[in-house]
This record gives sequence, C-alpha cells and structure tokens, in this order.
Amino acid sequence: MRDFSLDRAKMVRDQIERRGIKHPGVLAAMREVPRHLFVSMEYQSEAYADYPLPIGFGQTISQPYIVALMTELIQPDPQDCVLEIGTGSGYQAAVLSQLVRQVHSIDRHAELVKGAQRIADQLELTNIQFHVGDGSLGLPEHAPYDAILITAAAPQVPKPLLTQLKVGGRLILPVGERWQQKLERWIRTAEESFDHDQDIPVSFVPLLGEFGWSESDW
Ligand code: SAM
Repeated sequence: MRDFSLDRAKMVRDQIERRGIKHPGVLAAMREVPRHLFVSMEYQSEAYADYPLPIGFGQTISQPYIVALMTELIQPDPQDCVLEIGTGSGYQAAVLSQLVRQVHSIDRHAELVKGAQRIADQLELTNIQFHVGDGSLGLPEHAPYDAILITAAAPQVPKPLLTQLKVGGRLILPVGERWQQKLERWIRTAEESFDHDQDIPVSFVPLLGEFGWSESDW
C-alpha cells in the first residue's frame, strides 16, 4: 500500500501550522495518524485534502484543520480522560489517543462505531473505548472528564455535558444553526461556575438527540 507520510507532513505544514496551530503534540499526532485508513478506498487519494469527506450514513470526517484546532483548544494533557461525542470515522479519537491517557468516544450509529473500533484495533490504539448511544446525554458512567469534544452541531451547549466536566475541565463544541455555527469553548472554573468564549465559524452535521436537535427541527 502507498505510504502517505509525505502527504501528512504537507497537510500539517500547509493546512495546520500555516493557520496558527502550535501545540507540538497536536502537530505530531496529526503527522502520525494515518487519516487515509479512516475513509473508504474511494476517498483515500483525498484523505489529506483541506476539506471534510463523506463516511456514510450522511456523516463526514471533519476537515484536518478543524480536528487540529478542536484538539488544541481542549489543551490536552497526558493524564487526561477525554470524552468525544460523535465518533464518526474514529479519526478524531485516534488523534486524541496520541495525546491523553484515556479516550471515550460515543456515536448514535452502531455501524460507524464498529468501523472505528476495527481501525483502532488495527492500529493498536488500546486507550480508546467506544460506545453506542445518545451522546447529547454525555456518558455519566465514566465522568467526570478533563475535556469533552463534541464533533456535531448543537442548538446550545447540552447541560448534562457541563455537569460531567471536572473543575478546570474544557468543553469544545460547534453551536448554531444549519450551515453556520461557531466553535464554543466552555471551562468549568468552579463547581457551579463556567466561563465561555467563541472561536471561528464552522459547519458541522447536527447533534441529534435529547439535548441536541430533533430531526424535524434541523
Ligand atoms: N469525529 C468524527 C471523525 O473523526 O470522523 C466526525 C464526526 S461527524 C462530523 C459527527 C458525528 O456525530 C456523526 O458520526 C453522527 O452520527 C454523530 N452524532 C450526531 N448526533 C449524535 C448523538 N446525539 N450522539 C452521538 N453521536 C452523534
């Protein structure tokens, strides 16, 4: 099989470093994880291009820069336990697995989770645990988390997720309407208090679920 390491190096240089991502661990993880394994054969030649790609079930693997940006925004630490909502292809979880102690990743599509698990097994990424279910409720059985990353667009920050953050924990998610959302970062500064700010405009598929969108409203 073709070795894509030069494509990865170019992706990191041209799309990610050039846009201002500086975290050395994030850059190293993006150079390391073989993104082409997370898409079907049909899309492998585009795996390192500067845009999202289809992964089936109407879902997408996010643009590489957005994966890097969201990972940098959670300020990953090697001791962290991180929850990702929206497993999709499993690529974001694989990037996180290089940077933190434990990753939990949940998706509402069992078939996507199965595919992600298969690739994680192939790459021997033993610190990712996959789950199937409505991630808008979080994953209380493994809470609290040092960081939570939601890779689907929510109408507003889902309340259960704020309560599953540790004090000092960070939550990153896209918030807004169809086609146009903003990345938001929430930080639990004390048991009952949160700070939040906004970053760039983004466009994600919807978070569908109890604390997300209903299919009819999206
Ligand atoms: N992080 C993924 C990757 O690296 O390929 C891309 C995620 S894709 C943009 C969004 C994912 O969110 C989809 O796989 C979708 O099934 C999932 N999703 C939407 N609503 C969800 C919910 N309530 N709970 C869990 N997953 C959800």
